[in-house]
Amino acid sequence: MRTLFVTTALPYANGPFHIGHIMEYIQADIWVRYQRMQGNAAHFVGAEDAHGAPIMLAAEKAGNTPEAFIGEIARGRKPYLDGFHIAFDNWHSTHSQENTELSQDIYRRLKKAGLVYEKPVEQLFDPVKGMYRADRYVKGECPNCGAKDQYGDACENCSSVYPATALKNPYSTLTGAKPVVKSSPHHFFRLSDPKCKTFIRAWLETPGRLQPQVVNKAKEWLDGVGDKALADWDISRDPPYFGIRIPDIAEEKYLYVWLDAPIGYLASLKNYCAKKGIDFEKFLQDPNLEQIHFIGKDIIYFHTLFWPAMLEFAGKPYKVPDHVYVHGFITVSGDKMSKSRGTGISPLRYLELGMNAEWLRYYIAAKLNANVEDLDFNPEDFLARVNSDLVGKYVNIAARAAAFISRQFNGELFDFGEEPSVNWADAIAADDAIAAAYEGRELGKVVRDAMAIADRINQHFDHAKPWELAKDPTRQAELHRTCSDAIYGFFVLTVYLAPILPATARRVAAELFGIDRALTFEDRKQRPRRIRAFKHLITRVERKQLDQLFDIASVPQPSAPQRHAEQQQHTAKEHAVDTIGIDDFNKLDLRVARITRAELVEGADKLLKLTLDMGGSTRTVFAGIKSAYAPEKLEGKLAVVVANLAPRTMKFGISEGMVLAASWDKTTAAGDGPGIFLVSPDSGAAPGMRVK
Ligand SMILES: [Zn+2]
Repeated sequence: MRTLFVTTALPYANGPFHIGHIMEYIQADIWVRYQRMQGNAAHFVGAEDAHGAPIMLAAEKAGNTPEAFIGEIARGRKPYLDGFHIAFDNWHSTHSQENTELSQDIYRRLKKAGLVYEKPVEQLFDPVKGMYRADRYVKGECPNCGAKDQYGDACENCSSVYPATALKNPYSTLTGAKPVVKSSPHHFFRLSDPKCKTFIRAWLETPGRLQPQVVNKAKEWLDGVGDKALADWDISRDPPYFGIRIPDIAEEKYLYVWLDAPIGYLASLKNYCAKKGIDFEKFLQDPNLEQIHFIGKDIIYFHTLFWPAMLEFAGKPYKVPDHVYVHGFITVSGDKMSKSRGTGISPLRYLELGMNAEWLRYYIAAKLNANVEDLDFNPEDFLARVNSDLVGKYVNIAARAAAFISRQFNGELFDFGEEPSVNWADAIAADDAIAAAYEGRELGKVVRDAMAIADRINQHFDHAKPWELAKDPTRQAELHRTCSDAIYGFFVLTVYLAPILPATARRVAAELFGIDRALTFEDRKQRPRRIRAFKHLITRVERKQLDQLFDIASVPQPSAPQRHAEQQQHTAKEHAVDTIGIDDFNKLDLRVARITRAELVEGADKLLKLTLDMGGSTRTVFAGIKSAYAPEKLEGKLAVVVANLAPRTMKFGISEGMVLAASWDKTTAAGDGPGIFLVSPDSGAAPGMRVK
């Protein structure tokens, strides 16, 4: 039996889960469920990544304390996790007693090992706000390529990394002020120390530990030369900061959020161990324990350089990760979520529409492999795979065969004795391949192999023509064998698909086969003796549901959490501050327009098609305001339009802009409040006027 400690990347506690989180959780949850079905002990934990200046500032903006702010976010997690059948054993927070103790302990140990030193750092100080403007609160021109509006730590254009003080023409993203350079002593982790580098290299090169693409990427950083050389890591922040105090120093300083965030994996584990009566330190030091992190490709740097080095040099009871499994991003119809606002999928909306969580689990599994590749959610592909494969092939077997067994044979299955039945033997023959594919996170292969088996079962069934056998009293034994064998095959397939379809597998086991416990991988070898009445298992996706899922995108009020939802975790962390400079505002071309026509859009639940007189030109805009306005009430009204928004191709046509409307932000206490209110200029304004 293996003992596994499995984590997913900690979501930043500044907004609800986005589809990228859900994809990662589904991937890890499937893997964990498979391990448990094999009899392994998998301990699966998650936590909120709750610290850092972005949270502090977002809370301040919301008129809240950081504690209350992150508490509210944490309370919103359950519907997502339950809804998508993500079975974490524990969910905790980096803002916790456990994490404070562990982070301070690791800091002290690293210091004792000679790997922490102090050095004065020149930083940009925002004279208006009275705060150091580290990280992402400064923008300016990239010192490498000259790209404008780049953040103070890395360039999104050329990907180079640099200190904020290297930016040309810097400005504070909070106040727009030109920052001044001030010096303050900072604490550094000596990542460039030869013993660190030697360790990291050996860790990276351990066969089978990491995906080859990940090793290559990490080695690029490790082996960088000149200005790309591996630099020591600034692990401290000056107050005000929401984080963990650096211990044993008189001065008020905090650990950088990226130091305490991964320690949150251990904090959640420790919290879980206490609940379960497990000795945390003994658990970690068990030589059989495997520590495994599932993460996205954007945080490889932290998880393959700092994190193993921190753990290695902190010493026992800490252990280095055995594997870090990296996945790509999720795109929608080929668009990167961060680039095309409005094409993201809201996981909560998916659930609210009553869409089956297992459709998404199945679809994501079908598209995932062990490589660091982006996964594209394509609505047509989703519809086809769920309806044709999951329902049309897998569920269909039971739907077709069970009726004959129940009606003609009183639920008794044909007893093949020692003789293997065709479908059952065929399905069992795939078990090594399917087990290997699960273990290696080749979930797409699991699904392909399972569907190939389903195809063969359906072919045998069609070939035997049971509906004709049923009419012939002399061929009842043949009918019995045919249908029973199809059910045997279906049973094995259910075992194979159980990690992907946990709710369906549970229902099939209990309702059809009378097995009132979770299925194990061993169950595949036991042919059931009888079945109960077949109950409907999984419905087909309706096109209408997908239309509704994507309609939300056209509601013209991208709220802060939605915007964060489009970003991957660690960048989201840094973008939480919403203040923009006047230059950013001036990029918006807001115009007064008159609504000359408003029409219902066939098949769209939320949209109205608006024809706008822009003062000389005409435009078509789709607006998600149908719930609040009857079309005839809008004609003749003035509205404010974002005129320079890139045209967006929607299902119903091209939308050439966006009309502004007010509604409650979904994350606030009033989030459920009703209403969408069109923004309209005062009387006298004329179409074409600029709004500033
Ligand atoms: Zn650049």
